[in-house]
Amino acid sequence: MSTLRFTVVREAFKKKAAAADTPSGLPSSYFGELVFTREKMQKYLDAKTYKALIDSIEEGAAMDRATADRVAEGMKTWAIEHGVTHITHWFQPLTDVTAEKHESMMAFDARGRMIEQFDGSSLIQQEPDASSFPNGGLRATFEARGYTAWDPTSPVFIHDDTLCIPTVFISYTGEALDYKTPLKKALKAVSEAALPLCQLFDPQVRKVISYLGWEQEFFLVDADLYSARADLVLSGRTLMGHESSKNQQLDDHYFGAIPERVAAFIREIETEGYRLGIPLKTSHNEVAPNQFEIAPVYGEANLSNDQNQLMMNIMNKAARKHGFVLLLHEKPFAGINGSGKHCNWSLGTDTGTGLLAPGHNPAGNLQFLIFFVNTLMAVQRHNGLLKASIASATNAHRLGGNEAPPAIVSAFIGDAMTDVLKRLLELPSGTPVQIAGKKGKSLGIVEIPEIFVDNTDRNRTSPFAFTGNRFEFRAVGSSANCAGALTTLNAAMAEQLTDFKAILDREMASGKRLEVAAMDALKPIIASTLGTIVFEGNGYSDAWKAEAARRGLDTETSVPEMFLRFTDPASVAMFTRMGVYSEKELRSRNEVKWEIYCKKVQIEARVMGRMAINHILPAALNYKARLSESTARAQDIFGRDFTQAAATELYLIRRIGILTEEVRERVDRCIEARKAANRLQDLYEKAKAYQEVALMLEEMRGPIDELEEIVDDGLWPLPKYRELLFTN
Ligand code: ADP
Ligand code: MG
Repeated sequence: MSTLRFTVVREAFKKKAAAADTPSGLPSSYFGELVFTREKMQKYLDAKTYKALIDSIEEGAAMDRATADRVAEGMKTWAIEHGVTHITHWFQPLTDVTAEKHESMMAFDARGRMIEQFDGSSLIQQEPDASSFPNGGLRATFEARGYTAWDPTSPVFIHDDTLCIPTVFISYTGEALDYKTPLKKALKAVSEAALPLCQLFDPQVRKVISYLGWEQEFFLVDADLYSARADLVLSGRTLMGHESSKNQQLDDHYFGAIPERVAAFIREIETEGYRLGIPLKTSHNEVAPNQFEIAPVYGEANLSNDQNQLMMNIMNKAARKHGFVLLLHEKPFAGINGSGKHCNWSLGTDTGTGLLAPGHNPAGNLQFLIFFVNTLMAVQRHNGLLKASIASATNAHRLGGNEAPPAIVSAFIGDAMTDVLKRLLELPSGTPVQIAGKKGKSLGIVEIPEIFVDNTDRNRTSPFAFTGNRFEFRAVGSSANCAGALTTLNAAMAEQLTDFKAILDREMASGKRLEVAAMDALKPIIASTLGTIVFEGNGYSDAWKAEAARRGLDTETSVPEMFLRFTDPASVAMFTRMGVYSEKELRSRNEVKWEIYCKKVQIEARVMGRMAINHILPAALNYKARLSESTARAQDIFGRDFTQAAATELYLIRRIGILTEEVRERVDRCIEARKAANRLQDLYEKAKAYQEVALMLEEMRGPIDELEEIVDDGLWPLPKYRELLFTN
């Protein structure tokens, strides 16, 4: 081990868990204390203002300036009590991170005295200098303005000394420049499409809510070891590194005891999360060493997604405090599992009925079936698009790589539901079907057994799986903003529900009862989905790839190609009809996606080339020089017979010679490929060219990892996998 590396690793092992500054008392005593909750609204706003704000949250009612001023005043009073000095509009541009523009509350009154000021206009709207956020050409540089506008449906919160106002980010011509705007539109669309169907069963229903429960996976790496790896620092993943002798084969990390320093980190983020009203429920070790997961109780999708974004920030900061660095990259280490972010998705009514949970009576079950079957159809119609919605340069390392997700979107529903659907198909048309719950009497009736929650088969190879009362979209990447996937999923569902309602209306217009009409409308959809999107087998097998292609599912594996699905006629029709994206937005967002793809690969290629030339080759050549010296000495001693005496040296010298030459050549070839890619103007073409560069990086890695195996450990300049993965 090189002296430098030795010191770094020793220091890393010495680290102790930092004491977390936990607020005293039980979590329930500080849960949500940093959020402007309804209770606080009531306390800090007069009754009329409170009502206006609630109307705006619940009904989207517009708010006049005077009311906004009073809301801001109430927020200010509350915030100042918590030592807040700054305000920021908090938004989610098309990058991997949230953005904030802090402004102090400082102002001067008429007599020139400094005061704290925060009024309705700064609550409602701000104009960040936004010219350098990705926009895909939507804002010409001479009109590089975009503005942020308050999203009252996600509560204002305090982070450090700043009052954070969740906002959407849009251009002056009204196009979305962020993740939140389209998500909100999709949530509205799905609510409106689902409502008339729900009202057939319960006229009391006023609103349908889309839920999200995210499960965030991540790695923690010791901060000192991290700093010694340029690849981790600059690209978020290791671009080289031979696999450790032990990795995840013993499965001894999964759900094992959480190491002390990690436990302190998790305690701290939980506390911070609770104070911000984030209902964190579980945290545990994941499959890979130094990999972990946290998950909250699910909530309304827009809020839950904001909370995920916020949590990613909190985790980043807290990790540093405990001497770790948080890796949210989807595949930081080759050869072991990467990180995802399961998005558990469901719909429910404002009267408390889960629309994807089987009911306890026949009517509830019919409603459940309508939503269940239409979900399958929505996913079937837009399977390629849903895959595109989770695709990125970083998630590409997981796609199709024998860990969720496979590069084909299919749906897993389990034996029980498959059986229910098949039996429904067999019933003759016009049969007044009763779909009973477990306790229902079976009188030639199709039963939905109450086996569900916790009990569904867990097919881990499926990217979209039914788990009893929800679907788990498992293909989303750990670093992603869930809104990308959720916007597409909810919009596709909205379209399918709208179309289904039209079919149902036609069936009912011919005088059929709801139960009969619904079954007649559902049957062709059931038949189609069972034969197409539903797949219960191994999603990684080659047989499935062939079968999926036969079924007409999207089997594209290239990420730059996948993005084209967004501008397919069917996608454009769906998104525009549901009022989620305009065609212009779809086109410009694809430009952003291709550009980010290029930049990420470009950074990796630069870092890898430099590490190869500046770190790896010198170490290998240094060792080779030592071997040559030893060989020369053998020659002095043994004369002509030296080749036998120095056989090992000679073997290693040759091997190192071949490998270093391979590395050098591959670096050169990669630089040429980058130059050619950079000359391309069209971003789609450029991304395709960079995809070739990405493949070259994989090839460059081969000889480097082989060198790591044969070069003296004392000369190796980089922390190795065993050090990165087993230091905690
Ligand atoms: P697992 O890892 O077994 O999938 P977890 O308990 O880690 O289960 O995570 C399940 C996630 O699903 C949690 O975030 C939970 O709140 C969420 N969830 C449970 N029911 C629903 C539902 N009806 N809609 C959306 N999310 C749900
Ligand atoms: Mg899950």
